[in-house]
Amino acid sequence: MASINPVTDLSVEGDVAVLTLNSPPVNALSAGVRDGLDLGIKQALADPAVKSIVLICDGRTFIAGADISEFGKPPKGASLHEVQNTIENATKPVVAAIHGTALGGGLEVALTCHYRVAVPSAKCGLPEVNLGLLPGAGGTQRLPRIVGAEKAMEMVTSGQHVGAKASAEMGLVDEIVEEGKLRDGAIAFARRIVAEKRPLNKVRELSAKMEAARGKPEIFANFRKANARKFRGFLAPEYNIRCIEAAVNLPFDEGMKVERTLFMELMTGSQSDAQRKVFFAERQAAKIPDVPDDTPTIAIKKVGVIGAGTMGGGIAMNFLNAGVPVTIVETKQDALDRGMAVIRKNYENTAKKGRLTAADVETRMGLLTGGLDLSALADCDLVIEAVFELMEIKKDVFGRLDKVVKQGAILASNTSYLDVNEIAAATSRPEFVIGMHFFSPANVMRLLEIVRGDKTSKSVIATVMQLAKKISKVGVLVGVCHGFVGNRMLAQRQREANKLVLEGAMPWDVDRVLYDFGFPMGPFAMADLAGLDIGWTAETSRSSTLREVLCEAGRRGQKNGLGFYDYDAERNATPSPMVEQAILDFAAKQGINRRTISDEEILERCIYPMINEGAKILEEGKALRASDIDIVWLNGYGWPVYRGGPMFYGDLVGLDKVLAKMQGFQAQMGDDFKPSALLEKMVAEGKKFL
Ligand code: NAD
Repeated sequence: MASINPVTDLSVEGDVAVLTLNSPPVNALSAGVRDGLDLGIKQALADPAVKSIVLICDGRTFIAGADISEFGKPPKGASLHEVQNTIENATKPVVAAIHGTALGGGLEVALTCHYRVAVPSAKCGLPEVNLGLLPGAGGTQRLPRIVGAEKAMEMVTSGQHVGAKASAEMGLVDEIVEEGKLRDGAIAFARRIVAEKRPLNKVRELSAKMEAARGKPEIFANFRKANARKFRGFLAPEYNIRCIEAAVNLPFDEGMKVERTLFMELMTGSQSDAQRKVFFAERQAAKIPDVPDDTPTIAIKKVGVIGAGTMGGGIAMNFLNAGVPVTIVETKQDALDRGMAVIRKNYENTAKKGRLTAADVETRMGLLTGGLDLSALADCDLVIEAVFELMEIKKDVFGRLDKVVKQGAILASNTSYLDVNEIAAATSRPEFVIGMHFFSPANVMRLLEIVRGDKTSKSVIATVMQLAKKISKVGVLVGVCHGFVGNRMLAQRQREANKLVLEGAMPWDVDRVLYDFGFPMGPFAMADLAGLDIGWTAETSRSSTLREVLCEAGRRGQKNGLGFYDYDAERNATPSPMVEQAILDFAAKQGINRRTISDEEILERCIYPMINEGAKILEEGKALRASDIDIVWLNGYGWPVYRGGPMFYGDLVGLDKVLAKMQGFQAQMGDDFKPSALLEKMVAEGKKFL
């Protein structure tokens, strides 16, 4: 075995050269790996005893992608392009031996090899789209040449990892070799192709698989149409498709030029910048400066949930899915039965869609027990309360829990707004009390705001942060304040949306602007979905808000087909003339002179106060970092990922511009727009949030 460089070895076994990369953790294409590949292949080619070359990786995976820490830095070592040329133009067959994941640049290297073999557990993929990019090392040009345009489009626009079997079926992998015997299998394969005098397959020269799509623009048009909703607002999926079109319709070198141009456009644009920052921000959110990684954690073997309503059921499902037994407690048998039936129904619906087996449903339900008394939770390691949002009830529940649940167990509240310190004070163990704020539907939404009380222990924080990961959530640590990070900022947007509608806009104008910005729906469509009558009672209703007026008129939202919008049987929404009149009347009663409001003003008034509130949250230390705020909004409120989150967006617009607008609005409309001291300071110092 000869060492080519610190991360590459070359050994010659008879007539086969084996080039082995060993660059932990994932053999990413760093300068060292690229140099090693280039030199190693050249050395093997120069050795007359060598008839074929196997490229294989040590450790847990084949090359799993580019080294993204090199992005944006001056290039070093051999370029990927040079390495690929060396491999593809090699005069001896090069076989990629794949285990783990061949992703992004890793698969693009494998595509320049003349053959590919893989173990059954291996996966291939081009996930660049998830970072707002496209595979920029020939992936979009070579992939369709071996799998065809349609499969290639699916792979590059979804970024999905394709298993070895499916890869072999589509021609991406030439042979599957026995698990655990990749090296031997690849060497045998290499000898065989030499013995059989199989050709030096240069993918760039193939075209048969693309014939089906040539001269058929409808294939691309149909694909765009079928995925329009999923791709809405994103540039990268569209650019990936254009590259595949170029591969089909242009000679290889021309197609490569298209790929390069579109890649550079994405790479230097704000969408990919946003998506790459989000990638790192999510990892960063898991790090709590004063809670080191080695903080001891509490084993969570059994979980209790109090309240089997909207949230309690969804919360329970997260743990059942992770194989953790759950006991759920309600006040009355019928509420308990209803709550448990909803959980079963949710699982059965998933099974109907083929995403769970009937046995999975029973396994999960088998982990669930119900009870009507808090004493059923005595031996739980973690209890999450999800009862009504009233401080008196929460304090009563926590006071009683404290007496029945074993010492050392964590007591958590799913409160949306209430003071976790006050709840903790109702117990004799405030250091074991924490907020776990799930989002609706709790079994689906990825966000978990983890609310740190003044006395919450580090071990409890470390445990809950770790648990978030276990149940596939992104945990973000936040401080105690009204509405924490997410709802506190949402309140800003909601207030402005309501004001705009009285001042001159219509609900559908506000919704359209926010939808076009990239949110899945606007605040009024959202209100209709949630129900206009949440928290409303006929007895106390005094026509004092527009919402009260609408509820009094029998408008309850989507559930009765009448909300801010009118709904047909298929729940298609149309603006309601009745609501329009109600708005005009209500505004007149308030003495408001309605005016024309531009889309620009709608957007700025809904979004800039959120950025400003985010700055206040940072100033008060209620979030650890600006990127944590972005993670909250991306995962809990549908902020479009290609816009990076509110704080990223503030940077993008320019904090000086945001501040100037806030000051202008403040002069016109008062202190709802009072700039935060931090925002002013950052502008004065020319700083950015991220
Ligand atoms: P819900 O009304 O749907 O459910 C509350 C359940 O708690 C009811 O089934 C009720 O019978 C039960 N309950 C009340 N008192 C109880 C007690 N003493 N012991 C046992 N069970 C009791 O309410 P929800 O929407 O699930 O909200 C629950 C909590 O979650 C609230 O604090 C709320 O602010 C918070 N939350 C709600 C949402 C949401 O979108 N609905 C989102 C995040 C957080």
